This record gives sequence, structure tokens and C-alpha cells, in this order.
Amino acid sequence: MTNTVSPLDKSAQIAVIGAGTMGAGIAQVAAAYGHPVILFDMNPEAIERGINHIKSGLERQVSRGKMTQEALDALLANISPATEIEALADSKLVIEAIIEDLGIKRGLLANLEATCATDAILATNTSSISVTALGAEMSNPERLVGMHFFNPAPVMKLVEIVSGLATSQAVADQTHATATAWGKQAVYTKSTPGFIVNRVARPFYAESLRIFEEGGADLATLDQVIKGAGNFRMGPFELMDLIGHDVNYAVTCSVFDAYYQDPRFLPSLTQKALVECGRLGRKSGHGFYDYAEGAEKPAAAITTGGNAPAQVQVVGDQGVANALVERMEAKGLNVEKQASDTESYIKVGAARLCLTDGRFATEVAATGNPDTALFDLALDYNAATALAVSFADQCSEAAKQDVIGLFNALDINLSVIDDIPGLVVMRTVAMLANEASDAVNQGVCTAADADVAMRGGVNYPQGPLAWADAIGVAHVFNTLSNLQQCYGEDRYRPSALLRRKFFAGATFHG
Ligand code: NAD
Repeated sequence: MTNTVSPLDKSAQIAVIGAGTMGAGIAQVAAAYGHPVILFDMNPEAIERGINHIKSGLERQVSRGKMTQEALDALLANISPATEIEALADSKLVIEAIIEDLGIKRGLLANLEATCATDAILATNTSSISVTALGAEMSNPERLVGMHFFNPAPVMKLVEIVSGLATSQAVADQTHATATAWGKQAVYTKSTPGFIVNRVARPFYAESLRIFEEGGADLATLDQVIKGAGNFRMGPFELMDLIGHDVNYAVTCSVFDAYYQDPRFLPSLTQKALVECGRLGRKSGHGFYDYAEGAEKPAAAITTGGNAPAQVQVVGDQGVANALVERMEAKGLNVEKQASDTESYIKVGAARLCLTDGRFATEVAATGNPDTALFDLALDYNAATALAVSFADQCSEAAKQDVIGLFNALDINLSVIDDIPGLVVMRTVAMLANEASDAVNQGVCTAADADVAMRGGVNYPQGPLAWADAIGVAHVFNTLSNLQQCYGEDRYRPSALLRRKFFAGATFHG
């Protein structure tokens, strides 16, 4: 959706309510743009802490030469503290970032309606409460909109502009334009559980948790593969440890319950156990990993051995994995290509190597060649530093060594994991794309905004739908269909929109 509405003028007063982690950051963003900002909290000490936090962060920037002292002084001069709600009366936009509690937020909104002008926009930074529910008791719910910033607000680019049932499009548009003027990437979303990011991101954690629970690979190996092949900045276990398991598990449970226990969002018993025993991650000194002084971080499993192959036969088009063939050629391997319209595999020694399509390697082997190995998806096979491979139960030792030798010759940290359908990155990305596709199908957001949201809100290296286009919609659809069959579970059912794109031979981005 293109937005042609003007942002609020710099001279417009902005109020931020709640001077905690998010409120202080949001006040900084608005003040940096040049607005006069009122920072309100019921606790005067919280305001002092909030302003000191902003100040110390900016001082670090000044000491690094990234900001001038004059700009710091001007920004801080734009922020005025307030503990009386009347001070907000002239604000054109009020953003609440108080405690996540429906009753308390509703009470605050009632006070704001009584205090602010009727044309003032009232915005909520809630992560998990329905904007529709928050507006239910308001006299003018059309002026309530979600303005969901990500932590830390001055750094993270994304702002989800969340419309409840009653939110007027004009209010959503002006809030979108204002966030954009502040230098943010604003996306529109309907008020549905998790909005875009907290919904679409669930499989990033869920799939690795499941592979771990099934004994497919250890934590460090999964983290390494997700980073080294998927190009994600952090592995899922490192990230869950950073977010805190209490927070991450609560978000998963809230999305799961809000979608009436859709199995796609099933929480993990392993993570529940961590919460139960207080292993909350970095903040408690122990989560999946141990952060105690001197504790050793477990190493990822890297498989070495075999010999560089004398020849590699590439049969048919390898699609998204053509770059892997380029890497073989760049490394000086003897690559022989054979055209085929019906087949796609790489023959190395005794082994037949294919890109995973959501089936067990053992199942693929049963269709013909026992010496079957499957390799995982990489965002960029030319640059990947790690990759997961699985072998069929029927695969011979000699064929395994041929595959290991090939990847060692390519200088890729190879992790041979158990025969897990869809391996790690393919399965995670297919599920991320499936969730984004469902959000688009349900009119929660556009395909473009789904991708912007996942890049800007959680730093994904590629938007899931653009990634699905790059892999090939057909391959993603087949992977999910095969996963659904392997597990016999609805969790992996392809989204109706993905299915439609597949049969139309279409992509998500034109
Ligand atoms: P926080 O606990 O750091 O800060 C909340 C502040 O609100 C406190 O200073 C408290 O004194 C104040 N407060 C509480 N009730 C108030 C009231 N009735 N009137 C005025 N002030 C009041 O919380 P936070 O992490 O900044 O979260 C705030 C909101 O932002 C929540 O709705 C949360 O869901 C949402 N959010 C949080 C994050 C995050 O990563 N922390 C990210 C996005 C959105």
C-alpha cells in the first residue's frame, strides 16, 4: 500500500507514556526528528532513569564521533518530563508504552480521551494485546492505532502500524507517514495475534527446537548451520538465550492460544523446562548455553574426511543450488554437466546428492538409489561457510566419504546430521514463508510488507516470501507437502495462497 498522507509536522508535540525500555527509546526517536516530546510516567524515578539512559547512549555516540555535542544537547532539550497527565493536553500524537495489561492500558486510554484534543492520535506500543480490544471502551476508537516499535527503538528500523477493527485508515496513514519521516520502515498490519513479526518468526525457533528434540543435531551445530548457510545473524538457540526463555516462551504460548491452538505454533516442552528451572538464558547465566565464567561453549559438529572427488557429474538444473555447482567450478573441481528435463541430482563417486525437498533421505533412497545424500538450503551457496547434509539409512560408507570429501574440498564446514526431513535451513525458511503467505492470504499485510517486517524487525537476511521466490515456489510447496506427509501433521500444511501460487506458476513478488 502506498501512503500519500503527510507526516505530523516537526512542531507537533508528541507525548510518550511510560519511560521504560521502550518509552525512552521512542521518545529519543521523536526528539531526534525535532518534535517537542513530553515523556510521562507515573513514577518520577522512571523518567529520570529513562532520560539518563537516553543521555548515556547519546554520549557514547558523541565519544565515537557519530554525533556532535550540539545535536545531543538539542535532542535532550526537546524532551520534557511530566508526571501530570494534563501536560499532554496539546499533544498531536500520544504513544503509550506502559505495562502490558489490558485493563491498565484501557484505563489510561480513557484518561487520554478526557485530556487530549479529539483529533489527537492515540497510539499503543503493545506487543500482544489486540488493538481492537484496547479500543473497545473508547468513545472514539477510530483514533487508536498500534505503533509497534522493536527493541532498542532507536536502532531497530521497523515499526508495525497496527489497525484494529475501528481504526480509521486516515489515522493509520498519518501514523505510517510520521514513523517513516522519523527514519523508520513502517508497515501496515491488521491487529491479529503477533501482528506480522511475532507471528511469522515463530518457526525460526520452533523448527530448530523440534529438530533438537528429535535428536537430529545438537544446539551448536544447529546454530552454526542457521548462521553459516542461512546467513541469519544469530542461531535460534543463541537468540532465545538472548531474548530470555520466559519472554520467548510466553510469546509462543500467547500466539498459540490466540490462534486456538493451531499446531503450527505449538510451544516446545524443552523450552518450558528451561523456564521451569529458571534457566532463562543470558540474563540468568544459563539457558541452552552456560554463561558462567569459564564455561566452555560446545563446539558445532564438523565432519571431515574423504577425498576431493576426481569428477562431479551434475545432472539437470540444480535450481537455487546452481551456485553450489559454480563453487565447485571455482574451486577447480572437474565438473561434468548433463542436461536433463526430468532429473536433478549431483553424482559424486558412489553417491547421489540432491537438494532436500522435505522427504527423508531414506525415503528418497527407497525410490531407486540407496547411496542417497541430501543437502540443505543456503542463502548463497557461493558464500556459505556451513552446510548440513543427511544420509539415507541405506547409504554405504564409501558413498558417505565421497560426499564428505566433496564438501571438504569446497571449504564448507560440513555438518552431517541425522536423517531429518527438510534438514535445517530449508525447513525453517519454508515454514517462515508459509506463515508469511498465510498472513498475506488472511489480509493481515501485503507480501512486500511481510518481507520488510522480517528484515527490519528481526534482521532476517532475506524476506521469507522473496526467499521462497528465489528457492522456487514449487520447491517450497513440495517441501511443505512432503514434511506434512513425513510427520502426518497439520503443522506443515502449505498455506492456501502458496498452493495457489504453485498451481498458477506464480511468485509472491510479481
Ligand atoms: P518497562 O517495564 O521497561 O516500562 C514500563 C514503564 O511504564 C515503567 O517505567 C512504568 O513506571 C510505566 N508505567 C506503568 N504503568 C503506568 C501507567 N499507568 N501510567 C504511566 N506509566 C506507567 O516496559 P517496556 O519493556 O518498555 O514495555 C512497554 C510496552 O511496550 C509494553 O506494552 C510492551 O509489551 C511493549 N513492547 C516491549 C518491547 C520490549 O522488547 N521490551 C518491545 C515492543 C513492545
